Parts: sequence; structure tokens; C-alpha cells
Amino acid sequence: MNAAFRGDRRYDYLIVGAGFAGSILAERLASQHGARVLLIDRRPHIGGNAYDEPNEAGILYHKYGPHIFHTNSDAVVDYLSQFTEWRPYEHRVLAFVRGQLVPIPINRTTLNLLFDLDLQTDEQAAEYLASRAEPVDEIRTSEDVVVNAVGQELYELFFRGYTRKQWGLDPSELDKQVTSRIPTRTSTDDRYFSDTFQAMPLNGYTAMFGKMLDRPLIEVRTGVDFAELKDTAHELADHIIYTGPIDEYFDFRFGKLPYRSLKFDHQTLEQERFQPVAVVNYPCEEVPFTRISEYKYLTGQESPVTTITYEYPSAEGDPYYPIPRPENQELFKKYEALADATEDVTFVGRLATYRYYNMDQIVGQALATFRRIDEKVKERHEPAAVAAE
Ligand code: FAD
Ligand code: UDP
Repeated sequence: MNAAFRGDRRYDYLIVGAGFAGSILAERLASQHGARVLLIDRRPHIGGNAYDEPNEAGILYHKYGPHIFHTNSDAVVDYLSQFTEWRPYEHRVLAFVRGQLVPIPINRTTLNLLFDLDLQTDEQAAEYLASRAEPVDEIRTSEDVVVNAVGQELYELFFRGYTRKQWGLDPSELDKQVTSRIPTRTSTDDRYFSDTFQAMPLNGYTAMFGKMLDRPLIEVRTGVDFAELKDTAHELADHIIYTGPIDEYFDFRFGKLPYRSLKFDHQTLEQERFQPVAVVNYPCEEVPFTRISEYKYLTGQESPVTTITYEYPSAEGDPYYPIPRPENQELFKKYEALADATEDVTFVGRLATYRYYNMDQIVGQALATFRRIDEKVKERHEPAAVAAE
């Protein structure tokens, strides 16, 4: 590394959190700037929520629930492809509704199965949906989005119960962005995502992260909470990159930002298959879990046994989901103003920027953050060349 870029401290950067955001910044800063990075995570592993590991039966499962990679960004795919090969995989989900399994997102097949119809074309399905839809003048909430598109009955069957369970809130109390994630289709396309690139890292996420972080300039320490280092952090490194919950960084000064959590019940069953697709959703409120995932569909692994995960939403536990609603956004803005005024710390990632982002969006955000750091460093040190590692 160019000496001008490094102070005489031990590390150039202390990065908090070894998920996508933290790991990508560690990789970029080490490989492009020759920076010395200390990357910590309070969990006992790298990978953040995307962490996967083989269980005792040898099945590769996702400790924090099913993670399916999908994106429309070539730049994101190109970046990650340095660290992994891919297994083509198109995700399909069924919902258990009125005693049968039907495709979700709602498509023509869903309508035919549920209402005993024989809709043959996109036009017929569009006409049918239009006859059920209840137009809403100003679409603000997650209820508005769905009722506007498919009407009250389908909204109640597929969205109301699931959303109440998942978020602990009625869809009418949640920003429209939550249910807008799920399209309504008039075709028979039963893929969960419509993105141009849909695939799983061939050997799993943890292997991909391992390759990303395998550089002499990156020191990874897991099982270390930032709280232990906070007071002396600036003796360790010039700059901090923080990917944990933003309210926690500021000691909850303005009160707690709500994050939704989940409890995962992982089970390995002595049978080859448990369900017909990777994920089955259970929208009905009487069932306490939201969905069951079966990993062998995602990984293509073959085994006489199978591992599944039940997801039980919870108010307590690790923060997984920022909760998109106006009052939370207002509170976040107060923390964001503090973050903006904290020059030696960069806040990045799903928890630190309090956004319901998918993995590919976090990859994009981390790469954009690196570009900004890169510009600043170059401005400060021009015309010195930035040496690669
Ligand atoms: P994280 O992965 O949360 O990493 C942050 C890390 O920081 C954590 O490992 C945490 O332990 C660490 N940390 C926090 N505070 C501290 C501290 N004080 N000290 C030390 N370490 C700390 N996205 C998709 O694209 N497709 C999917 O199918 C998908 N499925 C999902 C399913 C579930 C159940 C969940 C919860 C999320 C899913 N996501 C999915 C979203 C995906 O998990 C996130 O977009 C992505 O993991 C965010 O990366 P990140 O680095 O911002 O955060
Ligand atoms: N949703 C629903 N019923 C479903 C699937 C999704 O009501 O069968 C709603 C629910 O509010 C959920 C949101 O749509 O939280 C987004 O769904 P997604 O599958 O993207 O959730 P994630 O995988 O992020 O948990």
C-alpha cells in the first residue's frame, strides 16, 4: 500500500459486521487500496445472515433462513463471480390456502385452482383480476397495494394473515414497499422472482465469503462485539465501517428503532423430500409460522435425509428486518443525521441504513460506498498512485 494512505496505527479500517456489506468493503479496501483491515463480527462466523453450514447430517442449510440470490445487475454478478461459481436455480413458492397448495405470486394457475376456473390467456386472467380488484385512489400502505390489484378476498387469503404474523402489524400499518415486493401475474409464470439473474453460489455463501476474505491484509475476528472495542476503536484504526443496527451504535439515544426478528426451527427428517418446492408459505393466522423451507431444492444436494426450517416471527431476538413505516423512518432520520455528522465512521448495510434490502442491493450499496471512499482517498492523495495489493 502507498505509505501516504496508512497512518502509523495497526489497521487502516475497523469493519464491524462480516455480512455482505462488511465483507465486501473489507475485500475492496484490501485488494484495491492495500489497506489493512480488522473485520469483526459478534457472531461466531462470517457471512452475516447469509451464513450457511453443513449440519450433522451433512446437509448444507441456512442458519438464518433461506437466502436465494437474484438480481438485475450485471455489475453485482460480475463482482461476486470473482469469488464463486453459480448453480442456476429459479425459486418457486407455493402457498397453503383453503386446504391446497397454490402458486404465489398469484398467477393464472392460482386463480384457476382456487376458484375452479379455466382462464386460458393473459387477457382472460387480467379481466378476471380487474373484476375483483378494488381500486384505491392513493396507494400508501401494504393493504392498498394488494386490494387495489386483486381485491379483498385474495388479499385476506394470501397477504393479511402472513403480514400480520411476519411484522406484528396489519398491512394497513406498513409502507406499500413491503407487499409491493410480490407481483401479481396473469401468466402461468410461477417463479418467485422475475430478475434476469437467479442462481445460488455453487458451494454456498460461506465458501464465497471465505474466498472474499482470504487475504493477508484482512484479519477476521469472530465472536467479538464492537461494544468491547468501542472506547478504544480509534486507537485500533483510523476509520470505522459499521454495518450493525444504527440505533445501537448511538446507544439508543433517541429510543429503539424497531427491527423484526425470527425464531428458526431447523429439523432434519429421515425422508428424502418433505414438500414439493423449496418454500411453502402458510398465510393463515391460525398457523404460528410463516413458511417452511427445504434446502436441498436450493443446493441440489442429494441425500436420503432432508433439512427443513420453520420460521416463527418474533418481536424479540436478533434484528433481521427494519420495519418500513413512516414513524420508523422519521426516527431513523434522526439517527441518520447523527451518522452524517460522525465523519470517521461509515454506516452501510441493511441494519445501519435501516432499509429492507435484498442481498444484491447490499452488494450494490457496498460497492458504491467503496467508490465514494476511493474518490475521497484519491482526492486527498493525488497524484500518488493507488497500489494494488
Ligand atoms: P447482515 O447480514 O445482517 O450482517 C451484519 C453483521 O453485523 C451480522 O453478522 C451481525 O452479527 C454483525 N454485527 C451487528 N452488530 C455488531 C456489533 N455490535 N459487533 C459485531 N458485529 C456486529 N435477501 C435476498 O436477496 N434473498 C433472499 O432470499 C433473502 N432471504 C432472507 C431471509 C431472511 C430470513 C432474512 C432475515 C433476510 C433475507 N435476505 C434475503 C436479506 C439479506 O439477509 C440481507 O440483505 C443481507 O444479509 C444484508 O447484509 P448486511 O451485511 O447488510 O447485514
Ligand atoms: N407476503 C404475504 N404473503 C406471502 C408472501 C409475502 O403476505 O405469501 C408479504 C409479507 O408481508 C412479506 C412481504 O410480502 O413480509 C414480502 O415477502 P418476501 O417473500 O419478499 O419476504 P422475505 O423473503 O423478505 O421475508
